[in-house]
This record gives sequence, C-alpha cells and structure tokens, in this order.
Amino acid sequence: MRLILLGPPGAGKGTQAKILVEDYGIPQLSTGDILRAAIAAQTPLGLEAKAIVDRGDLVSDTIVNGIVSERLDAEDCKPGFILDGFPRTIAQANALDQMLAQKGMKLDAVVELKADADELVRRVIQRAKDSGGARADDNEEVLRKRLGVYAEQTAPLVNYYSQKGLLKTVDGMAPVDQVTSAIKTAIES
Ligand code: AMP
Repeated sequence: MRLILLGPPGAGKGTQAKILVEDYGIPQLSTGDILRAAIAAQTPLGLEAKAIVDRGDLVSDTIVNGIVSERLDAEDCKPGFILDGFPRTIAQANALDQMLAQKGMKLDAVVELKADADELVRRVIQRAKDSGGARADDNEEVLRKRLGVYAEQTAPLVNYYSQKGLLKTVDGMAPVDQVTSAIKTAIES
C-alpha cells in the first residue's frame, strides 16, 4: 500500500499514520519528523532548516525531495509506505511522480483529511500544551502562518490528485477511530 495523507496542520495526519503503520505493517514517512530530528541533532540539514521550520515556512523543495527519495530506497519501504506531510507543493508532487516512476513504484491512493480552520487552531494549541511546548512551531501565530501556507501552496494538490483519480476525501474532524475506519474503507474500496 503506497499512500499519501494530505491535510492542513493539526488535521490528524500523524495520528492516523501511526495507526495505519501498525495495521498495514508499512512505515510512516514524515518529512516534518525527519526535519525535527535533524534540527535536534544539529546536523547540517537541521541547522539549515531550523529557522524556516520555526517560523512556519516551507523548507526548499530540493531539500525535502532529496530526503524522500533517499528514504524511499530503504528496505522497509519495499512493501509500501505512508507519506505524511509530503508532497506539500505542486513541484514536490511532480518530483514525487518522477522518483516513483524511476523506482518502478505507483501510488495507490491520496487521502485528504478535511478539517475546519477554527478547530485546527484549538487542536494545535492543545497539542502544544500536552507536549509541554516541545514544538517551536506549535503556537497560534505560527499555526496561522502554516494554515496560510497550506491554503496557498498545498491545497492545490487536492485538485492535482483528483485529476489523477487518486483522491479520497475523509472528514478529519470525526473521532480518531472513525477517521481510521473511513480511511480504510476509502483505500480498500
Ligand atoms: P509537519 O510536521 O508536517 O507539520 O511539518 C513541520 C514543518 O516542517 C513544516 O511547517 C515545514 O517547515 C517543514 N516541512 C515538513 N514537510 C515539508 C515539506 N514537504 N516541504 C517543505 N517543508 C516541510
């Protein structure tokens, strides 16, 4: 199963990806997690990305495309993967199409988690409290920035994948287990 989870920050992509990892036995590939790990480890990539991630902007396509291409070559991605937070721009989606073609892989589905903007702000503020402020980009100001970036740069992917016949839309505001069931129904149908 090769899957993309698409949706604004706080829509539940990470939560759902972690459940699907268990159920389908395929890895979650989160560019946000990879970037945060690089920032924490202060690698050259982390040092370059930190200020951009902290203010809620997108890291360059070249950087994230490279991260994903390398990750897709790992053995654990052979049976499939769940992309969480990538692609985020049309340029990234084009690059993904190219890299998958080169690797002889095909996407099975793109699941859009639809979410209400006010509820997202509430959720992310809660996540910031629960994590004790572990993420520098989980505060209201940066979140509003990230929602704007999503609307401008990532939302066009809904149309992109719809035209390819890959898009499945699920209500991301339902309780977690209901969202999981809806995703499974959508991708297995
Ligand atoms: P996330 O955990 O997916 O919300 O990502 C957190 C932050 O990492 C984003 O706000 C961006 O700064 C950066 N990031 C994650 N994925 C990408 C991507 N595909 N393209 C550009 N920047 C990304």
